[in-house]
Amino acid sequence: MKVAENTVVVIDYTLTNNEGEVIDTSDGAGPLAYLQGFGNIIDGLEEALEGKQAGDKVKASIEPAKAYGERHDEMAQEVPKELFGGVENIELGMQFESETDDGPVMVTVVAITDDMVTVDGNHPLAGVHLNFDVTVREVREATEEELAHGHVHGDGGHHH
Ligand code: ZN
Repeated sequence: MKVAENTVVVIDYTLTNNEGEVIDTSDGAGPLAYLQGFGNIIDGLEEALEGKQAGDKVKASIEPAKAYGERHDEMAQEVPKELFGGVENIELGMQFESETDDGPVMVTVVAITDDMVTVDGNHPLAGVHLNFDVTVREVREATEEELAHGHVHGDGGHHH
């Protein structure tokens, strides 16, 4: 069976950036199961896997537009530390929900000085070129329940 819309795809993957650093891998965590055509994974990887079958090895080099989008520098801003009055220790990498004109946005603390904190509303992988090394383990038809839920049930998917 080939990967097509409405199929369940089970993959092993390693994701690296252009510097060769591993950003994420299924190694150790176990394979990932996703539903093709439902936006469970980034667009670029769905495109690269379309038409593949169990046993295929796929290398995909994906530009930010088909991954987590471009970086928008204006989405990073410096705010006074006192605005975080309720937070005892602000640390790099902490995430907060911030209210904006476009609704709530997750922001990440990327810099701290004595009295200022820089928060960044970009996805941590925005602007990053992603290189996937994928092995397709299994392709099967999705169940009606999986299609209704928009995600895979069982190993590598949702448990509920
Ligand atoms: Zn479900």
